[in-house]
Amino acid sequence: MHTDVAVIGGGIVGLATARALLWSGTTDSVQLLEKEPVLSAHQSTHNSGVLHAGLQYAPGSEKARLARTGIRAMTEYCRHHGIPHDICGKLVVATDESEVPRLDALLERGRANGLQGLRRLTPEEAREVEPHVGCVAAIQVPEEGIVDYQAVCEALAGEIRDAGGVLRTGEGVRELVSEGIPGGTGFRWRIGTNAGECSARVLVNCAGLHVDRVARLAGERPEMSVIAFRGEYQELRPQRRHLVRHLIYPVPEPGFPFLGVHFTRRIGGGVDAGPNAVLAFAREGYRLRSVNLRDLGEFLLFPGLRRFVVRHGGMVRRELLQSAFRSRLLAALRRLVPEIQPQDLAPAGSGVRAQGMRRDGTLIQDFLWLERPGAVHVLNAPSPAATASLSIGAVVAEKVGRMLVHSAPSGKGGGQ
Ligand SMILES: Cc1cc2nc3c(=O)[nH]c(=O)nc-3n(C[C@H](O)[C@H](O)[C@H](O)COP(=O)(O)OP(=O)(O)OC[C@H]3O[C@@H](n4cnc5c(N)ncnc54)[C@H](O)[C@@H]3O)c2cc1C
Repeated sequence: MHTDVAVIGGGIVGLATARALLWSGTTDSVQLLEKEPVLSAHQSTHNSGVLHAGLQYAPGSEKARLARTGIRAMTEYCRHHGIPHDICGKLVVATDESEVPRLDALLERGRANGLQGLRRLTPEEAREVEPHVGCVAAIQVPEEGIVDYQAVCEALAGEIRDAGGVLRTGEGVRELVSEGIPGGTGFRWRIGTNAGECSARVLVNCAGLHVDRVARLAGERPEMSVIAFRGEYQELRPQRRHLVRHLIYPVPEPGFPFLGVHFTRRIGGGVDAGPNAVLAFAREGYRLRSVNLRDLGEFLLFPGLRRFVVRHGGMVRRELLQSAFRSRLLAALRRLVPEIQPQDLAPAGSGVRAQGMRRDGTLIQDFLWLERPGAVHVLNAPSPAATASLSIGAVVAEKVGRMLVHSAPSGKGGGQ
């Protein structure tokens, strides 16, 4: 099969990009290749299910901009498609006086990012919203909510099929060979998968936890690697769900893109606690004992990870201990909701974040794409990329549209 565009990766970002390409009229010739037998089997369905409004991202960043446009687009999409969602609002709480300056800085940041209806609350006001919360001060973020991202992915897949796109599951990309002059009229990618071969004029790499590997297959030498951070969840037992009404978050630690363990009401009715952020020993390392020797070897040889561990040893150790000993996790959760008891919690699975890291050991805070003639690589799309997926898809589709116009012999791409 030959198409104008091949999207690699059938998570929410790849699906949103394929949908944007087809529904914007950029092209009617798109194939999406997904290595798993089903779509969206990784980050896009192993997350907190939160719609982030852009509170904590650096003003002017792509995360801030695309979370703002993305949450509006996603909410509208859910309304249109009847997908369960609830703009229930969130509390961010300072649990001791030392956190108050950071809470206030967060409020300023949220205002700079254009969030509406933000309110600084006293502990009494916070307890009117969340009767069981423990805090010395709080911010209420009324625009945030929860959603069923699995249902979003299914709706996107349906729209791609309806518009003539081809979804090829069980086809992992193993080889990428470029033929012709990149950006020139005869240019194409020959794509080798475990199931055979196909080709496309433009490649879009949305491979999540494997995005740097796929970029390298395409001949890139990205100045970053994906590092896998597992996030483990507990859930509140049904009889204790009343302790949390909506979303309760701590003040995030500066310098880290992770938000700290928090409480999240699920769209299906449960309440989750977590996720932590534990360095994983496998890209798809959903358990503490999951080890993949190839992944582990790559992580250990990557100088950035060694530098990160040396610089942030305290944080790495704390997260590992929280993972290994439930009492540690419980202590962190009790700061937010003091009534939580050990018997209130039950393990509830995990997700693994694809977090870009530079060779100097710094975490890439913003979304990052690498644009080349004939290819776009979505190198860093961690949270809030599920919220922002429709906006990310539109950005990438626009880039691809320009490439197709410049390389088209007659303005229109090849058929299937
Ligand atoms: C624990 C956790 C909590 C989170 N909470 C939230 C939240 O509340 N709100 C929010 O907005 N975001 C959240 N996120 C972030 C969000 O889930 C991700 O940013 C988003 O899902 C990324 O989507 P993706 O399509 O890039 O990646 P993925 O969903 O991981 O999809 C990538 C796909 O590429 C496929 N693939 C990889 N290699 C190949 C190959 N060689 N060939 C073919 N296919 C390949 C994979 O199988 C996979 O299906 C969370 C993430 C985690 C892990």
